[in-house]
Amino acid sequence: MIVVIKKDQDRKQVDNLINWIKGLGLGVHLSEGENSTIIGLIGDTSKVDIGLIRTLDIVESVTRVQEPYKNANRKFHPQDTIIDVGGHKFGGNHFQIIAGPCSVESERQIIEVAQAVKKAGATLLRGGAFKPRTSPYSFQGLGVDGLALLKKAKNETGMPIVTEIMSEEHIDDFDDVDVIQVGARNMQNFDLLNRLGKLKTPILLKRGLAATIEEWLMSAEYIMSEGNPNVILCERGIRTYETYTRNTLDLSAIPVLKERTHLPVIVDPSHATGISRLVKPLSLASVGAGSDGLIIEVHNDPIHALCDGAQSLRPEQFEDVVKSIDLMLPAVGKERDS
Ligand code: PEP
Ligand code: MN
Repeated sequence: MIVVIKKDQDRKQVDNLINWIKGLGLGVHLSEGENSTIIGLIGDTSKVDIGLIRTLDIVESVTRVQEPYKNANRKFHPQDTIIDVGGHKFGGNHFQIIAGPCSVESERQIIEVAQAVKKAGATLLRGGAFKPRTSPYSFQGLGVDGLALLKKAKNETGMPIVTEIMSEEHIDDFDDVDVIQVGARNMQNFDLLNRLGKLKTPILLKRGLAATIEEWLMSAEYIMSEGNPNVILCERGIRTYETYTRNTLDLSAIPVLKERTHLPVIVDPSHATGISRLVKPLSLASVGAGSDGLIIEVHNDPIHALCDGAQSLRPEQFEDVVKSIDLMLPAVGKERDS
């Protein structure tokens, strides 16, 4: 429920209303703009008497919000949220490219790829240390050693690092990680989301394989309602009946999210398609649909990659994708920082 307060009201009366709402056991999100003050009621508002609030002199309007997400809702927060990661901004007219291998394999590999993607225009480095693999017999990642190698690559290149957390148990190992990724398989790991909500580190929240947009936003809500407002959403394809591609990239999710939420939205065309030659067209389509950035898998030796070689671009292919993105960005009013 959203309560809009009339312009220039007595602060004391606004506080009285806020205290009354809190007395009902509800949380309050206060947004004070130049022209209006908005109170968002957080919690189960089904028992709140909407008519009673409407009759108050200070109240302009009261709207029941259909959507169960409040913190992520654009209705409460009309302006785009901008998330700063080491000076690189996500959201608004900014466009960021995150690139790197699916998984960290060795010091040489991660540093070589980091240098190559930086040179081509990526601003953040990705690389999995803890890997959620479908088979327990596949390479599971280097774990904490992988995190240490990512840190080395960060020191070498100055690029902030993005890497996936699989379990709350590892949260202390992620102290130096700049963006913590929650993978598709953990999008509804609510205990993990609650723990990440207690941090201030930006969270890259990937869409679950079979999650609706609303379920995805509710997962963002878990993080935000615990106090961490820094959530970046990542569309990475959903499972459909189509088997030609690894997943089906839901491009329409981008403009839909832009309507529903103020959070930045980026796209992962690598996991969406599973096929390296499809990464470029879908990157460009994502730019056209209004994405705030991309996360792309790049490997210096895809044939020998320990994970996801088929969808990984070689550095020169990645460079070509960035060049094409640069041609498109002015058309959508966005700027890539370098
Ligand atoms: C990844 O980014 O390495 C990954 C496993 O992605 P997803 O969770 O989208 O499958
Ligand atoms: Mn991968």
